[in-house]
Parts: sequence; C-alpha cells; structure tokens
Amino acid sequence: MRIETVWVGRGGQGIVTATYIIANASIIDGFHAIANPEFGAERRGAPVKAFLTISKEPIEDQEPVKTPHVAVVFDDKLLGAMQFVIDAVKPGGYVILNTGKSPQDAAALVGRDDVNIVVIDAIAIARKHLKLDVPNGPLAGAFSKVMGFPSLQSIREAFETQLGKAVEENFAAVKEAYEVAAVIPAKKVDASAKPKGIISTTSAFLTGPYEVVGWREVNKAGAVFPGSSFPYATGGWRIDKPVIDHSKCIMCRKCWLYCPDDAIIEAWVEREGPRGRKFRMKMIDFDYQYCKGCGVCAEVCPTGAIQMVREI
Ligand code: SF4
Ligand code: SF4
Repeated sequence: MRIETVWVGRGGQGIVTATYIIANASIIDGFHAIANPEFGAERRGAPVKAFLTISKEPIEDQEPVKTPHVAVVFDDKLLGAMQFVIDAVKPGGYVILNTGKSPQDAAALVGRDDVNIVVIDAIAIARKHLKLDVPNGPLAGAFSKVMGFPSLQSIREAFETQLGKAVEENFAAVKEAYEVAAVIPAKKVDASAKPKGIISTTSAFLTGPYEVVGWREVNKAGAVFPGSSFPYATGGWRIDKPVIDHSKCIMCRKCWLYCPDDAIIEAWVEREGPRGRKFRMKMIDFDYQYCKGCGVCAEVCPTGAIQMVREI
C-alpha cells in the first residue's frame, strides 16, 4: 500500500506543519512516510504546496507527487488557479476541501464526479478551538477520517512532538473535524482511467501572470521593476472580506490611511437626492483584487462602518 498526497494552501495556513503531523502520526502507526514542501514566494498568503507519501514499504524515491490519490485544498479560492491539482487526482481518489460552502456547492466547485469529495469548514473549527484562521488541524482530522489512518491518538502524539504547544486545542479541532467532515462519494469511477493532467512542479505558486526577466534587466541593486504587487492579484489570499455600510461612513479616511495594501479607494458615484436632483459624491470602496482581508480597516473605523464577512 502506498498513498501519494498533495496539500495546497497559502503561507501561514500550516500546510507544511499538517504534512509533518500526518507523516509523524503515520510513522507512529507503523507506516513509512516522507513529506516534502515546495515553496513559492516566502510570504504569508502566497500559495504553497507540499507532497506527502505514506507507504507500508520503505520509500526510496523523493520525487514530487504528479498524480495524487488525495489532494487536500486549504482554501476554496485556490480551486481556479490550482485546477491542475484537482485534474491530477486519480479517479476514485479524494479531494479534501476546506470551505464554508454547502457540500453540494463545494462539489460543484471541485467539478469532478469520479473522485470522493470531502467537505470540511476547517476555518470555523480552527476559530472555535484555536481562535486562529489556521485550518491545518481540522484538515488533518478530515484526512484521518476518510483514509482510516493515522489514528487520532497518533495525531495527538505528533502534535506533542511537532508543535509542543496548544496540543489540547489542536487536538480538539482534529477530533471535531473527524466527526463532522462530510463525504460525497464518487458517482462513477473508471479505475483504469488516467487522471486528466499531472501536477507540474514549478507552476503551483505562480497564480498570476508573470514575466521571467533575463540577467540584463536586473539592475545593480538586484531589483526588478515593477515589483510583484501588480502581477499578483493578492486579493485571492482572503478569508474574510471588508464590506462597507455607507450610511455609517463619515469619510474620515482612517481606513485608507491604515490599509497596508493600498486597497481602499475613493470612487465617485452618482446619487439621487430627496428631491430627485442628481449629484456626484465620493465614497469609500475596496479594491478586492488586492485586499488581503487583514481586517485593519474594520479595526480602525471609528463608526463601525466596515464589517469583515467570511468569504471562503
Ligand atoms: S482588509 Fe486589510 S487589505 Fe483589505 S482593505 Fe481592509 S485594511 Fe486593506
Ligand atoms: S474609517 Fe470608517 S468612517 Fe472613516 S472613511 Fe473609512 S469606512 Fe468611512
């Protein structure tokens, strides 16, 4: 028995730790395991993927996984950019998806009926037990449930050795996910069919248009312009998005001042007054292409005009 898995998410969501926890727990259960992360931009929020292979036999190769039995997706907004990961899952395999959407909507997003789809609201569980948006523990619990290994007890031991802190909170999150993960079985599986694609090893983190520059374009400072802000639509990194109630906004512009991503904009809008007269006025809006959902604007708004609303 040999199970090959790929875990995709964003820097800060605990992807690499999740693979180490499952690898460690599987080894405690008597398996062999090897976990290899593949990083892109070393930035919180940037897409990350990690490979984890578990086997009854010793694992001698360290190759990246190209056609996994299981894909664990930490953020449903990655499904578009990482469709090639979903396409690469073997027919009859599993896609474990962290999402706040209903199982039916989640299954429609995954878009395959020849794989088992596991739906878990790992963010809600992590917020409940850890007060953090780190969904790795619940996804480890969902993995254990559908694969039948590693055991919950071994996952707990792995938390002790790998993390050494917040063990009880993490384990409570794992257990809850184990209990509530919803499994939508594959409808039709042709076990002899090949996956539609393979996972390329370098493109997983390049989710936006980019240009490879030659050495002649690199200046003495080693910088290449423009920076990554324009090519990378960092708005895809959000869990919550800011939403404004204009009736409460007093246009103090504090949100604009504090936004770390220059994602608050002022837009001219046309409004009709009480006597039917049309006039133009400025209003605060968000550039959702670049808003990372940090929530700073909602924190600093003196009137409570901005609410953070769950998006994934
Ligand atoms: S949530 Fe953060 S990034 Fe988005 S608009 Fe508010 S302050 Fe800017
Ligand atoms: S901080 Fe609040 S009140 Fe001030 S401009 Fe922004 S949304 Fe409006």
